[in-house]
Amino acid sequence: RLDVEFRIRDEGAEDKHRWLQALGRVVCDPATGRPVRIVGLNLDVTERKRIERRLERMARYDGLTGLANRTTFHEMLHEKVGEQTSGQKRFAILALDLNRFKSVNDTLGHPVGDKVLQEVAARMMGAVRHGDVVARLGGDEFAIIQEAGGVHQAEELARRLIAVIAAPISLNGRSIRVGASIGVAMAPDDGSTGDRLFRAADLALLRAKLRDEDAFQFFEPDMDDAARMRTELEQDLGRALERRELELAYQPILDARTRSVVSFEALVRWRHPVHGMVPPQSFIPLAEQTRLILPIGEWILRTACIAASRWPGIVIAVNVSAVQFTDPSFPKIVASALATSGLQAKRLELEITETALLQEEPAVANFDTLKTLGVKIALDDFGTGYSSLDYLRRMRFDRIKLDRSFVSEIGDPRSASIVRSVVGLATAIGMAITAKGVETGDQYASGRLTGCTEVQGFLFSRPLTEVQAGIVAQRPASLAGADPPSACSVR
Ligand code: C2E
Ligand code: MG
Repeated sequence: RLDVEFRIRDEGAEDKHRWLQALGRVVCDPATGRPVRIVGLNLDVTERKRIERRLERMARYDGLTGLANRTTFHEMLHEKVGEQTSGQKRFAILALDLNRFKSVNDTLGHPVGDKVLQEVAARMMGAVRHGDVVARLGGDEFAIIQEAGGVHQAEELARRLIAVIAAPISLNGRSIRVGASIGVAMAPDDGSTGDRLFRAADLALLRAKLRDEDAFQFFEPDMDDAARMRTELEQDLGRALERRELELAYQPILDARTRSVVSFEALVRWRHPVHGMVPPQSFIPLAEQTRLILPIGEWILRTACIAASRWPGIVIAVNVSAVQFTDPSFPKIVASALATSGLQAKRLELEITETALLQEEPAVANFDTLKTLGVKIALDDFGTGYSSLDYLRRMRFDRIKLDRSFVSEIGDPRSASIVRSVVGLATAIGMAITAKGVETGDQYASGRLTGCTEVQGFLFSRPLTEVQAGIVAQRPASLAGADPPSACSVR
């Protein structure tokens, strides 16, 4: 039997070749048994070959950017480590993750997000040397194997990548800015296998991400400990509620004109048996990732409503994370917290950030149900996101809370005029506006002058215990006379 595939030249074909498959059978003379001829046929299998090649490519490369995909990256890394044992030079692994990409994708749409990824991929290819491997691992995660070189070359590459990725990308007449965080591991120092090396780069990336800017970070051995601690913290957090380790602090919010206390913001604290007080920024993200924020957030809401129901007339503001706000059962939980505490709906204000609104449908549905219940909704951290103005147009917020950065720079005429315009806009559509993080008398004076209706900050009071808050609630004017620094200082 005969079965062979071969190529013939064909100028008219797509890649100037056609593939043929020859199938045949040798026919022998029945008398002598000697072969006399071959019968069979030639099949044109060009199309099948093309599809096979495409499938092979798809299995190895990322369809969107043309970069190596996750499988290929890990294969190449293992190969490279294999070579290593036979005495090769050092090389680097860079794990890279884009900053602000999610917000581009969510606000400008996936087609724009895809173009941004393609542009970033092209820039990365332009920044590496021949022989380096650039891969897209998925989403906005990338990784690079830098062929050869030491710490110095890896650092140079990381700096170059951060610079080229941060340059604005023009798309459809818009100028889009994303950035990158990078973790770097060096072979063979940081791991003896491909998996260990990649994990080291990934741990370094996590550390780089903690900084509020585009940055790179080399792996350090203590990061392994930090990762272990995170896993432990995660387990501890799962038990924190039943062990009654969570508590709420209450920070007064004052009328900007009269300085009388009008509301308290509930702020959660975790009294860890070993690590002491853990600030919310260290465990809320963890709680969100593990969805433990759902039971924890419910406890916060119920506890805050019960506390506030004992205070005369004062509003309680509760921070609600995006995971909670987009949960279909959230309005029911709010209604139940109000019913059990007996707190009037209008005395509860939920603070949400823009991230809660990115998942449009569940957010809008819950927003409307909550407004029907009669609770107030505030947009927290205003000015840090992408398209807050659009949200203001579509959703009837009762209040916006200006991000602390505006208040800390309010002495600068440009910031002050931005604040003034935001206040003008808020007033025009009937929203109250709170200046957060007021620390100095000057900031307070400017905030007031620009028209903020409420003020909150260490100048007036730090977050208080429930008992202290109760005392202030009975005499809302008691902070009015406090001269900086605040007379009321607890945590
Ligand atoms: P946030 O909602 O912006 O809360 C205000 C934060 O600013 C609080 O920090 C408060 O202590 C701090 N702060 C108040 N006045 C000043 C000031 O004058 N200067 C400075 N530098 N800071 C001031 P905290 O309690 O550490 O909370 C941080 C963030 O953690 C909150 O930011 C909120 O996003 C989150 N968070 C806190 N409690 C909860 C909660 O119960 N649930 C959820 N989902 N998130 C919470
Ligand atoms: Mg808040």
